[in-house]
Amino acid sequence: MTNTDLYIGGEWRKGEEGGRFDVLNPATEEVIASVASAGIADADAALDAAEAAMADWARRPARERSEVLRKAWELMSARQEDVARLITMENGKALGDARGEAAYAAEFFRWFAEEAVRADGMITRGPSTGARIVVQHKPAGLAVMVTPWNFPAAMGTRKIAPALAAGCGMVIKPASATPLTMLALMPILEEAGVPAGLVNVLPSTSTGKIVDHMLHDPRVRVISFTGSTSVGRTLLKSAADQVLKPAMELGGNAPLIVFDDADLDKAVAGTMVAKMRNIGEACTAANRIYVQEGVAEAFTEKLVAAMGALKMGNGLEDGVDIGSLVDADTRDKVEAFVRDAEAKGAKVKIGGQMPDGKGFFYPPTVMTEVPETADCVHDEIFGPVAALQTFASEDEVVKRANATEYGLVAYVFSGSMERGMRVSEALNYGMVGLNRGLVSDPAAPFGGTKQSGLGREGGHEGMFEFMETQYISAEW
Ligand code: NAP
Repeated sequence: MTNTDLYIGGEWRKGEEGGRFDVLNPATEEVIASVASAGIADADAALDAAEAAMADWARRPARERSEVLRKAWELMSARQEDVARLITMENGKALGDARGEAAYAAEFFRWFAEEAVRADGMITRGPSTGARIVVQHKPAGLAVMVTPWNFPAAMGTRKIAPALAAGCGMVIKPASATPLTMLALMPILEEAGVPAGLVNVLPSTSTGKIVDHMLHDPRVRVISFTGSTSVGRTLLKSAADQVLKPAMELGGNAPLIVFDDADLDKAVAGTMVAKMRNIGEACTAANRIYVQEGVAEAFTEKLVAAMGALKMGNGLEDGVDIGSLVDADTRDKVEAFVRDAEAKGAKVKIGGQMPDGKGFFYPPTVMTEVPETADCVHDEIFGPVAALQTFASEDEVVKRANATEYGLVAYVFSGSMERGMRVSEALNYGMVGLNRGLVSDPAAPFGGTKQSGLGREGGHEGMFEFMETQYISAEW
């Protein structure tokens, strides 16, 4: 499977305190691994290793860093099936979803292999002084990365690849539910030529303690976090003490809007992707689905049919579309959202019943007439539940879609590009899917506005999250 110890300085270590914790397969509730848990001394050792390795890495020509990244893409792509199976085993998602994630995760290495050689600066003359203004970008320093369980590979590579391209050393704290995938990526990086110590992985049950400790180490300059808004706030507070550069990819509450001029089959197909990719356990998942009154009935009928056609089961089995949610808490929260909405007047059209037996399964569910007061309108559902509401006018739906403290992603389906672009621009979101249910793309800047985060991952922006701009005012 993979080594289950800590990965520090290019070696597998038990951890100073010797503690371990279990990782479960959510589909069977069986223990699949016992993983070492890092403590403070391990965090210090990982930072020492990262500091030592970074000195040489940051000085290497960008082309050399680029070639290592390119090799990582090749190796990870060749091992995509092994990575995908591991993701399914520890996260529960179906193999189809896991294969998609493994390919997407590997793609960050290829994209940032291409970006590594393009940290362009500029030179110009000060208009008043005539002095040369020389602008260049330098690696920001050591980065601490904290990643979530919902995309155990991709949320890591989306940070690791740009940090390597920029020339930084790093310490990664993967989610405790899914540490195996991140550990399994380390031999790939080693084989690709990443120097020992540059990338370190510290699974831990003392999460808050070790991350806070690292954020107070003067060598650390970047905190890159993907996870919930509440933990993001905590980390921003810790980061304030040393004024660290924060990259925060936080929670969402995505609206998905279907206008009456949309091609309904395409809108349903897009909604299925936006809602059901990763069983709805995605920050990008369509959380509030607004359908214009005239097409609400037809849209609901088609969506119910599409949801009803999905096969739920152990994600490792052939033909399964919908695997298990990650744990009992996530499943119980989904169930509570459905019961709350129902008690407030929503109608359950399909699903909505927790199955008996082992595993944290929840069936594909569609609810209509979801009232504004339902909890799921205001909080991330993080499960396979489509919550439908209707709307009358464009102005009204834009106001309702924007009425949230989140601003990660929104989706718009319309047959009119004029309307589609107008509405996209009126939405206060970092990303908009226009007639598409998928926005994630390594070549695009991923990130949110408002309380969905700070900074962007991927695209041209991603590498600069790990770089500082320096300007030299020169005369010659
Ligand atoms: P989470 O509870 O915030 O955990 C994320 C990571 O933070 C885990 O590694 C966790 O470690 C760690 N953590 C928890 N408490 C911490 C603390 N006090 N100090 C430092 N680290 C701490 O989020 P999650 O439940 O894993 O993930 C779901 C959330 O992530 C959702 O809100 C989702 O929208 C968001 N997300 C956002 C994006 C994006 O790009 N915007 C992408 C994916 C997910 P332990 O596992 O050890 O607790």
